[in-house]
Amino acid sequence: MKPIYFPEPFRIKSVEPIKILSAKEREQKIKAASYNVFNLASRDVYIDLLTDSGTGAMSSAQWSGVMLGDESYAGADCYYKVQEAATRIFGMPHIQLVHQGRAAEKVLLPILLEGKKYAISNMHFDTTRAHVELAGARAIDCVVKEALDTTSYYDFKGNMDLVRLEKYIKDLGAENVGVIIMTITNNSAGGQPVSVENVRAARDIAHKHGITFMIDAARYAENSFFVKQREKEFKSSSITDIVKDTFEGADCFTMSAKKDAIVNMGGLIGCRDKALFEKIKQRTISFEGFTTYGGMSGRDIEALARGLDEGIDENYLRYRIGQMQYLADRLSDGGIPFQTPVGGHAVFVDAKKLLPHIPYYEFPAQALSIELYREAGIRACDIGSFMLGNDPDTGKQLEAEFEFTRLAIPRRVYTQSHLDVIADALINIKERAKKIKGYKIVEEPPILRHFTAKLAPL
Ligand SMILES: *Cc1c(COP(=O)(O)O)cnc(C)c1O
Repeated sequence: MKPIYFPEPFRIKSVEPIKILSAKEREQKIKAASYNVFNLASRDVYIDLLTDSGTGAMSSAQWSGVMLGDESYAGADCYYKVQEAATRIFGMPHIQLVHQGRAAEKVLLPILLEGKKYAISNMHFDTTRAHVELAGARAIDCVVKEALDTTSYYDFKGNMDLVRLEKYIKDLGAENVGVIIMTITNNSAGGQPVSVENVRAARDIAHKHGITFMIDAARYAENSFFVKQREKEFKSSSITDIVKDTFEGADCFTMSAKKDAIVNMGGLIGCRDKALFEKIKQRTISFEGFTTYGGMSGRDIEALARGLDEGIDENYLRYRIGQMQYLADRLSDGGIPFQTPVGGHAVFVDAKKLLPHIPYYEFPAQALSIELYREAGIRACDIGSFMLGNDPDTGKQLEAEFEFTRLAIPRRVYTQSHLDVIADALINIKERAKKIKGYKIVEEPPILRHFTAKLAPL
């Protein structure tokens, strides 16, 4: 039986032209970009899968809200609308606007980590880890072992390993742990969901030891849809109720609104404790702006207020996750290896398996990204040894656990035909895989090199 994928619950009212360059032009462009996709101009890209962050398409309701945005410095109308939507959806009494997810982390984490040594998470996202470290603490990841096996199916590969969590708390001393962070979905594990059962258990462990429990909520809506599909207790629950259950009893959350709230810029902090909220407001005023705009334009706040509800619409989510499953099924049929089951926002293609003849120090996932651009003007990125970089002590190239080429899918932007182009391109590449060669680095900065390094084909 052919699965039903649930097509777009919208029609297209405004279009943005994109073009595909000829194969010869693409070869020139990628060479001029020193074989680093971050150096490509977006106008030279046909399908841009670099990230799903801030790249979604706003609805006609959001665009009309842009015109209604109130740009008053204090107490703007849109501020009250965000407060209403966020307190209703997340069930938290106190909500602070900030300009994006990392701004929320910059404001909140130093408060939670003052005088503490550790933060423990199912997996810290890069910016979360950076802000834990900037606050003088260490970030410890504690994901279930099932996440590490890319070929086996497991419903909730994003879950916290609860046994290890208890052990870490015991070994490190509860008084040294400032916060336990649940990242939903688990971005770094491949957009893998976390069950509500696991969220509740981690929350209870945190509270038993007197530790703050925080949710990193960038993909709260996609996570809730997976919960509805896969967790028995929630089979007939609404998405609204699942979001409520997920956040129940959490002390606070940070959120990048650039993902599931489908806006191009924005972020939120939520908390229950009045004294904590007072500290959050003070730091927001120093770093972001007055509390009622938090570093955002009124027009963007208005779009965010509307996006929070659009992101949890069940028809939208059925289409969104259906798109991911459609692409995953086409890749499986074509024999393309990837992290299974597919996550909520990206396909992580296993370049180590697709290009087994290229060793980690010749960057197979980067080589595959370059082939995708050559083949069809698709921009993906390396999440592997090229991104990982060198050992800071020895200067030697580190070997990553995985060599993933990540195809992040923007929300409401590409149609099923675009997904077919992506699948067909990978299948064509697989046919000539043996002939594909690795790369060497010819120039690199000392940190975060993957954004600017220059490469050459071997
Ligand atoms: C994107 C993201 C962040 C950071 O948000 P920005 O808006 O990019 O600053 C934090 N945590 C997770 C899980 C994310 O996906």
